[in-house]
Amino acid sequence: MKKQDLWNKPVSLRKKQVVTVDITDMTREGEGVGKYAGFPVFVKDTVTGDRAEILITKIKKNYGYGRLHKLLTASPDRVDPPCPSARQCGGCRIQQIRYEKQLDMKLDHVRNCLERIGGFDPGLVESVTEGIMGMEEPWHFRNKAQYPVGTDRQRNPVTGFYAGRTHTIIPNTDCLIQDPVNEKILMTVLAHMKRFRIPAYDEEKGKGLVRHIFTRIGKETGQIMVCLVINGSREQLAGSGELVHTLRQIPGMESILVNSNRKKTNVIMGDHTETLWGNPYIEDRLDGLTFRIGPRSFYQVNPEQTVKLYGKAMEYASLTGRETVWDLYCGIGTISLFLSRKAGRVIGVEVVPEAIEDARVNAGLNGIGNVEFHVGKAEEIAPDLCRDSENRPDVVVVDPPRKGCDGTLLDTILSMEPERIVYVSCDPATLARDLKILCAGGYDLSKVAAVDQFCHSMHVETVVLMSKENT
Ligand code: SAH
Repeated sequence: MKKQDLWNKPVSLRKKQVVTVDITDMTREGEGVGKYAGFPVFVKDTVTGDRAEILITKIKKNYGYGRLHKLLTASPDRVDPPCPSARQCGGCRIQQIRYEKQLDMKLDHVRNCLERIGGFDPGLVESVTEGIMGMEEPWHFRNKAQYPVGTDRQRNPVTGFYAGRTHTIIPNTDCLIQDPVNEKILMTVLAHMKRFRIPAYDEEKGKGLVRHIFTRIGKETGQIMVCLVINGSREQLAGSGELVHTLRQIPGMESILVNSNRKKTNVIMGDHTETLWGNPYIEDRLDGLTFRIGPRSFYQVNPEQTVKLYGKAMEYASLTGRETVWDLYCGIGTISLFLSRKAGRVIGVEVVPEAIEDARVNAGLNGIGNVEFHVGKAEEIAPDLCRDSENRPDVVVVDPPRKGCDGTLLDTILSMEPERIVYVSCDPATLARDLKILCAGGYDLSKVAAVDQFCHSMHVETVVLMSKENT
């Protein structure tokens, strides 16, 4: 039989048919994949190792979709998800998988990308990969939450989460990966909306007021920020004095804000934020360093794991105190300040001007003088920095968003010939693509470690050390 035949739809397979399949793989979206007579079928709510009866829901040319009809044999990696909403929620897509298995899957994904996209030899990947750092207690770890607000059939305001791939709100105020204090905040806001008859925003009509309840918590300092995102201005928020009064009873409350977003858009925050009470920021600490965080600053969402991630990046940078280090895509300067404690000089670059303002404040708050920050695209600022030989980096750290580094930036870094490049990545696919370029430019893949920042989702964070060949 030719390979092509294996992929064609078996003549007998029809929509609404119930068939038995063994689930042998999983997609990046957390769906199980099984084969019926060689024809791949994607089945939500199944796990590698399951044998299940599935109802065929859709048939395409080379693959189909099915729904779990009856679980015949449960995979040994299956667990009962502790959250009652896990099956519907678009957030925790793999809560039904044993945590240790989740970690294995994530590390496998990193290795796979390095081999398939990066073109690295499997033996090399195996020998340089240190493993994945998981959490002891993978619950209540997030420090940032954004709850959509809507209206239920009884016209009551509700909040919760979007069902996977939809904009339907499933009411839930007790998300298990969020800080428990969120429940109190949500209840307070919903009760206030009811009392003052404040309408929730209706996405389709573009009417109503309250769109999202945004919270941020300094996990170490206990400081709390609440920001109501509304389709209007603060004057339209009835009884805001009472709301502030009630929210302030919650221990740790530091910042109560209103953000105006009048646009018909999926983007949560608008451009304009006003302070109802307290500071327009909170502070948190990571490994003894203090960070000021505004509502729109980028700040890693799992601080316990962030300390491990930055610790790994520091280890790979192996600084002695003399080096010049570039921290590209530096956000509010978190990695820069970690590096500054062991480097001669740190240069941070970031495209969001407010983040750079925060970064400078953060350097000041910690009395750190050997860092400087530049606003702009890394790919545009780096060539400028190169013009002065004083800026030549011994070590370059990059931590780009999911799309990875700009190609011209990689060329600039290569032209500077740093001893080491430390690549922090939230997407193994673009990471592998970029490492291939660095490798072709004379760097060796020396070390790889993964960190589980986003437990129960398919996402994984990776840190890689690339070292200059023959050094
Ligand atoms: N290292 C930081 C931030 C990482 S997130 C931390 O650990 O907290 C990636 C950051 O890159 C974001 O702050 C984003 O604003 C910034 N960014 C995105 N594109 C950029 C570009 N072309 N040049 C510089 N920074 C960019």
